[in-house]
Amino acid sequence: MKGAVLYGARDVRFEDRDTPKVVEPTDAVIRTSATCICGSDLWPYRGISKVDAPTPFGHEYCGVVEEVGRAVTRVTPGQFVIGSFFASDNTCPHCQAGYQTSCQHRELVGGAQAPRLRVPLADGTLVATSEVPPAELIPSLLALSDVMGTGWFAADAANVKPGKTVLVVGDGAVGLLAVLSAREMGATRIIAMSRHPARQKLAREFGASDIVSGRGEEGVARIKELTGGIGADSVLECVGTSEAMTQAVRSTRPGGYIGYVGVPHGVTLDAQDLFFRHVRLHGGPAPMRRYLPKLIELVWSRKIDPGKVFDLTLPLDQVAEGYRAMDERRAIETLLRP
Ligand SMILES: [Zn+2]
Repeated sequence: MKGAVLYGARDVRFEDRDTPKVVEPTDAVIRTSATCICGSDLWPYRGISKVDAPTPFGHEYCGVVEEVGRAVTRVTPGQFVIGSFFASDNTCPHCQAGYQTSCQHRELVGGAQAPRLRVPLADGTLVATSEVPPAELIPSLLALSDVMGTGWFAADAANVKPGKTVLVVGDGAVGLLAVLSAREMGATRIIAMSRHPARQKLAREFGASDIVSGRGEEGVARIKELTGGIGADSVLECVGTSEAMTQAVRSTRPGGYIGYVGVPHGVTLDAQDLFFRHVRLHGGPAPMRRYLPKLIELVWSRKIDPGKVFDLTLPLDQVAEGYRAMDERRAIETLLRP
């Protein structure tokens, strides 16, 4: 089979790879129905995170189970499944506490930008839908594999509740889906930070009540103005840069919460500043396994449509163009069809 392999900065190739097979008795192999390029794939693509060797790429997937190992009992060939980028047993103490991305037996699932994928710990990792979904639901179900689950975790970690004022920092796919998550959780006011007209429009469709295009001091001043000088109850940081985290910290009201899900790059926090601001921080790699059953139900019943973030769909063999389009911000999120 052919799949995406990242060689280094701005060098993604679609080339021959070994066809995945069941290695461990707890594995499953799935035929990917759709995969995508994540905003976080851009860190290594841009050379900001280094890759040491050519690496099969992609970590978001949904598809049909082809084969399972002899120890797998909860998923069977023919089922449509969704999983996370960390395989997890879903039984250890961390999984039981809802932090499957910190599973004691976690394993990275990589190389999903391909027609077939090996998923370790299949029983704990994969969640099957009740039946094979109609084609129009596939983008929204794929979004649950990472971007939607991550936006949801940002909102959950930031304690979004009915009636609260929420600020979302970041207008990538995760930021936009954090807006959607905040709306689902009942926030009354949702302020989205964006300078990009197409993303502002989608943020509004997903439930944003206000858009702030200023950044830095100007952005903080505008948020203070919109919140009567107080700051937001819940701030969802979906970028991972020092600028975004500073924006988040300064825009949170005393006693408020920050949910941070952007993978931090070069972010340092001043503990004394945090101390006097009375802000609460919770973040990390989102445990989407915890949220998958609920989010599948919301997509299946057409209550949410997170697949709208995929504004570019390409055949998998054009994966390199998909990366370029996202790198140049011509696309929010690229869906790839094997
Ligand atoms: Zn576990």
